[in-house]
Amino acid sequence: MTTKQFLDVAIIGGGPAGLNAALVLGRARKNVVVIDEGRPRNAVTRATHGFLTRDGISPGEFRRIAKEEISSYPSVTFVGDAAVAITGSDGHFQITTAQGNTITSKKVLFAVGMKDQPLDIPGLAEAYGKSAFVCPYCDGWELRDQPLVIIAKGADAMHLAPLISGWTKQFTICTNGPDELTDDQREEMQQHQVPVFDSPIRFIDSSEGIVRQVVLEDGTSIPCRGIFFKPTLVTGSDLPQAMGCSMTEMGAVVVDDFGKTSVPGVYSAGDAASRLHQAVAAASMGAFVAAAMNNEMNLEAWRRNG
Ligand SMILES: Cc1cc2nc3c(=O)[nH]c(=O)nc-3n(C[C@H](O)[C@H](O)[C@H](O)COP(=O)(O)OP(=O)(O)OC[C@H]3O[C@@H](n4cnc5c(N)ncnc54)[C@H](O)[C@@H]3O)c2cc1C
Repeated sequence: MTTKQFLDVAIIGGGPAGLNAALVLGRARKNVVVIDEGRPRNAVTRATHGFLTRDGISPGEFRRIAKEEISSYPSVTFVGDAAVAITGSDGHFQITTAQGNTITSKKVLFAVGMKDQPLDIPGLAEAYGKSAFVCPYCDGWELRDQPLVIIAKGADAMHLAPLISGWTKQFTICTNGPDELTDDQREEMQQHQVPVFDSPIRFIDSSEGIVRQVVLEDGTSIPCRGIFFKPTLVTGSDLPQAMGCSMTEMGAVVVDDFGKTSVPGVYSAGDAASRLHQAVAAASMGAFVAAAMNNEMNLEAWRRNG
């Protein structure tokens, strides 16, 4: 077991949010550690889209370049490990890692992302990240004008149908059981000539991750080239809740406009604390929250020394 020096900030999570926070804090001359177990939610994908100057980059290459840039700032270090427990309070937190390291810091930033619940439709896991996706802003362009299946019911289906129609007019909705639509909503789908099937999905047929058809329990088979579905998400780590941070019903950390959680000295950024799940948004929030943390630490030091 090793104990690191007393740091300014321990950043838990090294995705776009945690890495951009590390860059800002490193440039602000803060002593920072990024503790990252290296299991980002988008690890299943080949390409990250919509990040200006990095459109189409692989998640691994994104992290490699980010770490290379951050390495110009010697006060930032990286630990490839999982944080498993945090004790203490604002000004002195103690983080224990799975490998038995102990890290002490004045502040904590949770940039732990979100995790998908296991996918319970046979064949969906094989296509996930290759031709089955969750966000049309991330992957809609690549599937434009293609025949698609949307797996969603009720309000989610009513949200996704108009959204996806901006990328393709050829799509079918599979509600995988009761559609949870009102009569008016069913009529709206009919008016837009969107077929809706409520038979449970038997399996998704794909080849090397590229979906070919969705096969339903009633024998219907729907040929398609891609899928969008609504995932079930949970927070990327139990630690914020274990520390007493308020959480939303959706499993996100509740933060104020500056990324402060309900626990003094503890902040959160990125997917873990936002409803907009995109790499560029996570990086932006990481940068903004890092600046807020830096302001607070500088002000605290100013007052202490005044
Ligand atoms: C299939 C798919 C495709 C996507 N495609 C795109 C795209 O094309 N464009 C786009 O902009 N966005 C895309 N996204 C969304 C994007 O991946 C996320 O918005 C972004 O990764 C969020 O960044 P983050 O830093 O908040 O979290 P993450 O990138 O998820 O990073 C969180 C990190 O924290 C680590 N961690 C968690 N708990 C601990 C702990 N206790 N100790 C140590 N480490 C911990 C995790 O292992 C992980 O490495 C996609 C998402 C999915 C699921």
